Amino acid sequence: MGWNPFATIAETVDTSPKVSDEVKQTTCYMCACRCGINVHLRDGRIRYIEGNRAHPVNKGVLCAKGSAGIMNHYSPARLSTPLRRVGPRGSGQFEAISWEAALATAVDWLGAIRRTDPRKLAFFTGRDQSQALTGWWAQQFGTPNYAAHGGFCSVNMAAAGLYTVGGSFWEFGEPDWERTRYLMMFGVAEDHDSNPIKIGLGKLKGRPADARAKFVSVNPIRTGYSAIADEWIGIRPGTDGLFVFALIHELLRADRVDLDFLVRYTNAPWLVVQDAGSARDGLVARDDAGHPLCWDRRADAIANALLPEVVPALAGEFALPDGRRAVPAFQLLAQRYLDARYSPEAVAAATGVPASTIRRIAAELAHAAFDQQITVDVPWTDWAGRRHDRFIGRPVSMHGMRGISAHSNGFHTCRAIHLLQILLGSIDCPGGWRYKPPFPRNVPPALRPAGRSDQVAAGQPLAGLPIGFPLAPEDLLVEADGTPSRIDKAYSWEAPIAAHGLMHMVIANAHKGAPYPIDTLFLFMANMSWNSAMNTAGTMAMLTDKDASTGDYKIPRIIYADAYFSEMVAYADLVLPDTTYLERHDCISLLDRPICDADGAADAIRQPVVKPDRDVRPFQDVLIDLGARLGLPGFVNADGAPKYPGFYPDYLVHHERRPGIGMLAGWRGKSGEREIVGEPNPDQLARYVAHGCFWRHELPEHERYFRHANRDYLRWAADVGFVARVEQIVLQIYCEPLQRFRLAAQGHGSAQPPDHLRARIEAQFDPLPLWYTPLEEAAVDTDEFPLHAITQRPMAMYHSWGSQNAWLRQIHGRNKLHMHRKTAGRLELADDDWAWVISHHARIKVQVKLMDGVNENTVWTWNAIGKRKGAWNLAADALESEGGFLLNHVISELLPPRSDGHRWANSDPITGQAAWYDLRVRVEKAAPEEAGETYPAFATLPPAPNLKPRPSVLRYGAAFRGRAE
Ligand code: SF4
Repeated sequence: MGWNPFATIAETVDTSPKVSDEVKQTTCYMCACRCGINVHLRDGRIRYIEGNRAHPVNKGVLCAKGSAGIMNHYSPARLSTPLRRVGPRGSGQFEAISWEAALATAVDWLGAIRRTDPRKLAFFTGRDQSQALTGWWAQQFGTPNYAAHGGFCSVNMAAAGLYTVGGSFWEFGEPDWERTRYLMMFGVAEDHDSNPIKIGLGKLKGRPADARAKFVSVNPIRTGYSAIADEWIGIRPGTDGLFVFALIHELLRADRVDLDFLVRYTNAPWLVVQDAGSARDGLVARDDAGHPLCWDRRADAIANALLPEVVPALAGEFALPDGRRAVPAFQLLAQRYLDARYSPEAVAAATGVPASTIRRIAAELAHAAFDQQITVDVPWTDWAGRRHDRFIGRPVSMHGMRGISAHSNGFHTCRAIHLLQILLGSIDCPGGWRYKPPFPRNVPPALRPAGRSDQVAAGQPLAGLPIGFPLAPEDLLVEADGTPSRIDKAYSWEAPIAAHGLMHMVIANAHKGAPYPIDTLFLFMANMSWNSAMNTAGTMAMLTDKDASTGDYKIPRIIYADAYFSEMVAYADLVLPDTTYLERHDCISLLDRPICDADGAADAIRQPVVKPDRDVRPFQDVLIDLGARLGLPGFVNADGAPKYPGFYPDYLVHHERRPGIGMLAGWRGKSGEREIVGEPNPDQLARYVAHGCFWRHELPEHERYFRHANRDYLRWAADVGFVARVEQIVLQIYCEPLQRFRLAAQGHGSAQPPDHLRARIEAQFDPLPLWYTPLEEAAVDTDEFPLHAITQRPMAMYHSWGSQNAWLRQIHGRNKLHMHRKTAGRLELADDDWAWVISHHARIKVQVKLMDGVNENTVWTWNAIGKRKGAWNLAADALESEGGFLLNHVISELLPPRSDGHRWANSDPITGQAAWYDLRVRVEKAAPEEAGETYPAFATLPPAPNLKPRPSVLRYGAAFRGRAE
């Protein structure tokens, strides 16, 4: 046979070649989602990352960020050695020092504080996923001045949920992706819960025609998930609460609420005292034993509302045994939301959502909930021992996140969404929104914060955890004269339910020395001079400001721990370099914020997949080492020897928070035979590694729904310590703790707010959700600042880590200010024009980009792209510095002065949540000669000692090329 030029050449393409000589499994940390990953190694270097198909979070799915973790790991921005400041603070002048020297310095500073006044340490951490350790460390140290990232981010969502339904969105609960027929998402961009939402939306979109689900996204901007929604509601920022109330108005008006659910599972029938002017007004009427009362229609008498046999009334006015009058909470609810001010017509102009749309959505919700009811034919038993032969589901689910949370009216908005879910009966039912264990928790939450000066003592641990949930003014952390006990003023009258602290106020308060001066600010992984700060220029000035009389810095000492040369490094006196997430152990614990799903409890670890090639240490190891060197209780044995000589891995296995309860739930007991509760198992980490670095307990089918009232689930949850008692968790449409604060503001009780806060507490601590104009909008002239300005997180990046990642930078190397074409037309702006964005606080210069999918009153940009020149070991002329910018520069941590001269924090008045999205601006076209570079630009930071040189051409992978596999 000769050569045939027409023969087909058989090509074989190996779609899955062997690329590695070793694969190690761990947990991704390129965002907060915590997917399982397989890290492929070649010659000891990371070659490739793929999703772990067996992992409960991502089931093999990996996003762009996750696969680009390689570039975070090999980033030239990685710190290489401990550093001591040698030049003026902020100059970026450091010398490399040994770990022994660094730890000795830290022990010297911290030891002196602990021996005298532990409050003088302010210890705040960023998005670090190890709060079970850091919070406990702060408690053992004795300082109340501790919190993590939550106050920045979504504490409104968490607190509102915990005070209402004992759970919330994201780590607390999820839509029933398999069965829901109607999904509403509020204020969700690409952020937390990234891959699970994508997988879930994929499931919705892939349904057959006869089981289709509708996905409605409520968001001022049509990016990310909103871009694939069946309906996008481009709402005006900060008005989601009004929109939800109009939906509730319509549902009540049409008598389309689940009264059976309200009677069975909520405090809707509880009688609320109506005695205006008295100290009991608005509180729940209770019997002598403290049981809430209702009107039992069967007995025609007042009765204990918790008894299973009562048939309670939801409306009417009743006389209590002491003669006072009372009405069911539901009646107050119905009266409020049936009011004409919440009609679709009344809210249409403010929200930007047409009345007809609101009416249609309300009808669609009711249709999905009540006309498309579903059942799961699994018998179950409720809290009272009543057998049910099936679970009945109202297949409407909801999810909300930062877009609703990061407003000064966000707490009430988040509660409003839960109220809507409750009225539809779609809490923890088939097709609805479902708890993720260990939720539901008891409502209201059980833990109170500690931190008043009588709970702090030199050389002693704090008399409780620094973070908790106040239920009344007596639980606040204020001194006898009303002064806040904490440096961030959390749990004071300025933010009574500040369940995650007010990290955005720490530097400003410490600089002012109000409520008292501190000595050392200890930060971990929180870029507090840049993209985690409001008022960036002012913050940098505060960090470097000196006391004229002493010549000392007003914040005397700053210790900073980070893996990277972020903007904050330049402001530290002592830098403790952390590893990357691929070089250390981590723990995603049930004691913290675990990776559970609605059908099961789960936790996970990270294991080191490569050894550090620099003089760096895992921060958790460093914290445990510092704890032992400082002799903190819990970190040393009776003889003073370190309790965890093997550092964090040792602690993960052997630390017990309570007998049998430790950081990890899987493979407990001497030989790994126990789950959640059991003795420490020396082999536990090896068992996790052998199992892909995660553990999961699947709930039996009869424990998967109505867990707030499901006896078998509650028994198990009490056995493993998730709930305090086997009793029904009553969902709280009426939030009595808020009324206690309001009564104090009316002058009742001995714990009294300061006069300048009295009116706002009385107005805003409403036990039923309410809406008020966001505080910045109310404080500025809206003609002068007519636009809302907000950020969105891009798919490819998470915080500032992503925008220094060599691969991800190629997707978002710079950011622009996006605005609606019509808005741009009015301002005579075209694509790529330069413009000034001006707030009441400052101004920035940016380039604009026009689009259609945005609310006309709103401008927006991607989050955390802009970089300070020289930071992150990027070139001084990097696109991120010359073309990137932050909205942070124009956001102030304080609102404009009030008539009495007082300036309120830019926060939700209930929780202290940072109100990032309240920002109001105007946009002005820049002069032609102003085009070319974003403003402001700050002095270029010199590189830190021992940073690896940044390559001018990235040659990652060249060494792998041409190798026979
Ligand atoms: S979603 Fe987050 S945790 Fe999951 S792979 Fe992407 S970056 Fe990693």
